Amino acid sequence: MSTTLFTGISELVTSDGDPSGGDVERLGILTDAAVVVDDGRVAWLGPAAQAPAADVRRDLGGRSVIPGFVDSHSHLVFAGDRAAEFVARMTGAAYDGGGIKNTVDATRAATDDALRALVRHRVEEMRAQGTTTVEIKSGYGLTVEDEARILRIAAEVTPEVTFLGAHVVPPAYAGDRAAYVDLVTGPMLQACAPHARWVDVFCEPNSAHAFDGEESRVVLEAGRAAGLDLRVHGNQLGPGPGVQLAVELGAASVDHCTFLSDDDVAALAGSDTVAGLLPGVEYSTRMPYVDARRLLAAGVQVALATDCNPGTCNTSSMPFVIALAVREMGMTPAEALYAATVMSAKSLRRADIGRVRVGGPADLAVLDAPSYLHLAYRPGVPIASVLPTH
Ligand SMILES: [Zn+2]
Repeated sequence: MSTTLFTGISELVTSDGDPSGGDVERLGILTDAAVVVDDGRVAWLGPAAQAPAADVRRDLGGRSVIPGFVDSHSHLVFAGDRAAEFVARMTGAAYDGGGIKNTVDATRAATDDALRALVRHRVEEMRAQGTTTVEIKSGYGLTVEDEARILRIAAEVTPEVTFLGAHVVPPAYAGDRAAYVDLVTGPMLQACAPHARWVDVFCEPNSAHAFDGEESRVVLEAGRAAGLDLRVHGNQLGPGPGVQLAVELGAASVDHCTFLSDDDVAALAGSDTVAGLLPGVEYSTRMPYVDARRLLAAGVQVALATDCNPGTCNTSSMPFVIALAVREMGMTPAEALYAATVMSAKSLRRADIGRVRVGGPADLAVLDAPSYLHLAYRPGVPIASVLPTH
């Protein structure tokens, strides 16, 4: 196995500095740096002038290198298109979760191979924008068989697979919601748990299609009993019990967090549950952006992810999410990058990814720019991509 020395790195962001320090300290920034990769792992990093010899040498020509993005929230296994729904929202229609059934119909009708091709294409699209790890949820099958096959297909491209049978109550169960919860926590969970690491629920009492606090608790506790760790969609459409439930049950993350009371913020701040912010959803639904400063000032652990899905946020771009977080949510570029790497890894309870560290995986992204600041400074410009290291 040969070693590769990457030189010409104007700025290396390791995200592996002092977590209690300021922006720059936490990002662990080195200028005029070099990195040696050996068999897919980082073997050495430091000042270019001290770089050891290697079998192959690659000059990056003054570009910057950052940890590959960790996209800790996506729904990549779907078929169909809901562009018309997006256009309707842009001209005044509200989002209430009801359009999910259109994607369910299209996804159920797609063959395994068709879904597989769609997912692989979307993962490639993410890599082309610098993402090296993605979490993928089910939730567009909503039958035992369809949820299990979605998870099997997701597991072909990532270890971070999440069972979201409790995405919405299918129309056939609208008159008997308890029967659907029984299905999700019974036969569906039994068929799905072997293919998943996580269980998730759309806890949203403000939508007739989603699950209230008690239904969500039942789903999460059943998932935990089946060996899955917990994630929650909470407080997206209005105030609700999702955040408090996630904290109480020790969920790794509660995502959206668009409508938070002071008690919700205090609960998050005193917990190990990460708040996953998804500003692309606010962009695509015309909902108010989360005040990230309020959360950070309270000591809440904040991650960023795309929520890539066909209904409320059809972007695969972490750089776009970072730009929105800086422009609309009050985060500094450093806080946004940290949230998109180390903290999104933390929301997946992964300490091995989201940072560049000797001995760790060489999951690196390269920016066609001299500094990570350009991620927010040059929105919409495709400067980020995964650095081929293997
Ligand atoms: Zn989601």
